[in-house]
Amino acid sequence: MSHEIYLDNSATTKPYDEVVQYIVEVSRSYYGNPSSLHTKGIEAENLIKKARLQTANVLRADPKEIYFTSGGTESNNLAVLGYLRANPRAGKHIITSEIEHPSVLEVFKHLASEGFRVDYIPVDTRGTIRLEALRNAVDSETALMSFMLANNEVGAIQPVSEIVKIRKELCPSAVIHIDAVQAFGKIPIYPAGMNIELLSMSSHKIHGPKGIGALYVKKGVRIKPILFGGGQETALRSGTENVPGICGFGLAAETTASAMEDNLTKVSGLKEFFIGKIKENFEDAVINSSDEALPYIINVSFPNLKSEVLLHHLEQKGIFVSTGSACSSHKSSQSHVLKAMGVSAKYIDGAIRFSLSAQNTPEELDTTINSLKEIIPVISIKHRGKV
Ligand code: PLP
Repeated sequence: MSHEIYLDNSATTKPYDEVVQYIVEVSRSYYGNPSSLHTKGIEAENLIKKARLQTANVLRADPKEIYFTSGGTESNNLAVLGYLRANPRAGKHIITSEIEHPSVLEVFKHLASEGFRVDYIPVDTRGTIRLEALRNAVDSETALMSFMLANNEVGAIQPVSEIVKIRKELCPSAVIHIDAVQAFGKIPIYPAGMNIELLSMSSHKIHGPKGIGALYVKKGVRIKPILFGGGQETALRSGTENVPGICGFGLAAETTASAMEDNLTKVSGLKEFFIGKIKENFEDAVINSSDEALPYIINVSFPNLKSEVLLHHLEQKGIFVSTGSACSSHKSSQSHVLKAMGVSAKYIDGAIRFSLSAQNTPEELDTTINSLKEIIPVISIKHRGKV
C-alpha cells in the first residue's frame, strides 16, 4: 500500500502535528490538577483559560459562555437535558428533526418516555427541514428546539435564520440548541448574531483530540448539570478537567478557524472536482449531497452494490471512506438520514460517504476515482448476475 487516502473526516480527523506536540508538552510539563492551589494547579488552570478564550474567539463569544465537555455527545445531552431540568416551567413540548445525530435523537426518545410531547420535523430531498412543518409544530408550549447545523451524513445545512424567525413569531420563549459538531471551524458560526442559545462542538472533527468538546451557553440562559461532583466548569460539568485535551481542542479550534476561508474555498473546489469525475465515470451514480451542502461531505449512491463491500475494497487500496455515519455504523439498520430524504432502499444500500478535509488533494480524489473504476464493475450485483 503506497499512500493512505483518508476520506472519512466526518467520522474523525487526523490531529494537527502542532496539536499532538502541544498535548504531549502539556501532559508532560503541566500535569497539575487545575483545582490545586499551588503553582502546578494554577499553571494548568491558566492553560484552560487560554483554551477557553481560543474556543470563544472562534464563535465571537464570551469565554464565560464556553463549557468544556467530553465531546459532542455530552454537549448535546447537556444542552437538552440541562436546559429542560433548569426550566421545568418552560413547557412540555420539544422539537427536533428526523435527521439528527443519535446523541440528540436518543435524548428526545428518553424525554418522550418521561412525558414530553415531541415533534420530529421531516426534511426535503436535499435534507433541509420543512419549514412549514416546523411552523405547524411550534406552539406556546414549546420549550426547546434542537437542530443540527450541518448533517453528518450528507452535509445538508439547516436554515437557522428561518428557524429563529419562526420561533420569534410563534413562541419567543423557546430556546434553540444547535448541534454544530460538523460545521464548527468550517463555516462562520456566531451564536450571538444568529440569536441562538445553545451550541455544541466537538474537537476530533477539527483535527483536535478525541473525547473533548464544548457547549456554548448564552449568558443568562439557565442550565443544570447532568454530572455531579467537584463543581468544575462553574459547577456545570464536574470532573477533573482533561487539561491536555482541552488545550489540544483550543489550539485546533484556533488553527482551523484561522484558515477557515481558505479551507472552505479549497474543499469546495475538491467537491466540484470529485462530483464532476463521479458524473463523468459513473452514469447511474446519484449524488445525495446537494450543491448547497457543506462541501466537506459528499454522499454518493452507487446502485446495484453493497456499500460495505465497496468500502472494504477501497480499504484494500488504502482509501478510507464510510457508509453513512461511522458513529452508528455498528447498527445494521439503514441510514435514517437518507430514508428521511426519500432515497429508495436500493440507493441507500449503495451509499458511500466521502468526507474531506483541507489536507486532501485533487490527486487523491483522482486515485479514488480510478480505484472506483476498477472495483465497481467487479462487485456490482448486475455484473455478477451475468457471469
Ligand atoms: N453530532 C454530530 C452531528 C456528529 O456528527 C457527532 C459525531 O459524529 C456527534 C454529534 C457526536 O460527537 P462526539 O463524537 O464528539 O461525541
